[in-house]
Amino acid sequence: MPQSIYINGEYFSRENAKISVYDHGLLYGDGVFEGMRIYHGKVFRLREHLIRLWESARAIALEIPMSIDEMTAAVKETVKRNELEEGYIRLVVTRGGNQLGLDPFRCEDPQVIIIADKISLYPEQYYTDGLDLVTAATIRNHPAALSPRIKSLNYLNNIMAKIEGLRAGCIEALMLNHKGEVAECTGDNIFVVKDGVLMTPPIDAGILEGITRNAVIELAEKADIDVRQIPLTRHDIFVADECFLTGSAAEVIPAVKLDGRHIGDGKPGPVTQRLNALFKDLVKEE
Ligand code: PMP
Repeated sequence: MPQSIYINGEYFSRENAKISVYDHGLLYGDGVFEGMRIYHGKVFRLREHLIRLWESARAIALEIPMSIDEMTAAVKETVKRNELEEGYIRLVVTRGGNQLGLDPFRCEDPQVIIIADKISLYPEQYYTDGLDLVTAATIRNHPAALSPRIKSLNYLNNIMAKIEGLRAGCIEALMLNHKGEVAECTGDNIFVVKDGVLMTPPIDAGILEGITRNAVIELAEKADIDVRQIPLTRHDIFVADECFLTGSAAEVIPAVKLDGRHIGDGKPGPVTQRLNALFKDLVKEE
């Protein structure tokens, strides 16, 4: 089954799915995107992802040239055409443009791209043994410079931190904010468990409001786990009983070490395992 990629209402093979080299998405990282999971042929929390996409676009004054209902239909059709039961969707809206120059208001042809593909997962070993994290020297974008709430095509901040993590032998890196508090990881939100209380940085710590993060908070509240969205420091992770990350691609993944210190007993903990199981049930149900 050849891949079928949506661009502006038409479908193209992978080889023929192309946009202009003048596009502001390429020239300046000027655009927004979403990454979503397909479970059992359906997109998990599609509406939440599209609302976040529209909010990101609004923040950069980019008008998406279709309605949320039209986008919903386009995403579903793309999943269907690619015959994917399990997979990943990358939805991109670029500013468009056909000349050099920064002025976004000269770009009159935003490009809407939907790619549905197989998902490449972290190796299973990381889910059973847990991740080793390092703190990146690169801090998360200052919210007054480029808000981490905007899921923009400018991901260099995260890529810089990812490079530092990978160079240190870690597939994920912890990012702090401009105040030195814990923000999130390069592509995942972070949680810790201490004395039975689940804690995660608040949105105004300068993080992406993850769809998986929100789902896990809901699951924890339903399971009568005390959840607090409060500022955290690296020290809170060092002394935590458990730590885990969340993301559409990663789902719920334990982290057992930070900067050479074991977290808790250095093994995935019971609350992490419980929430992971509840999350797996949720994606099956929804
Ligand atoms: N933080 C960042 C920086 C991300 O890029 C992502 C998405 N990969 C997340 C958190 C997790 O968000 P979600 O659960 O919506 O995938």
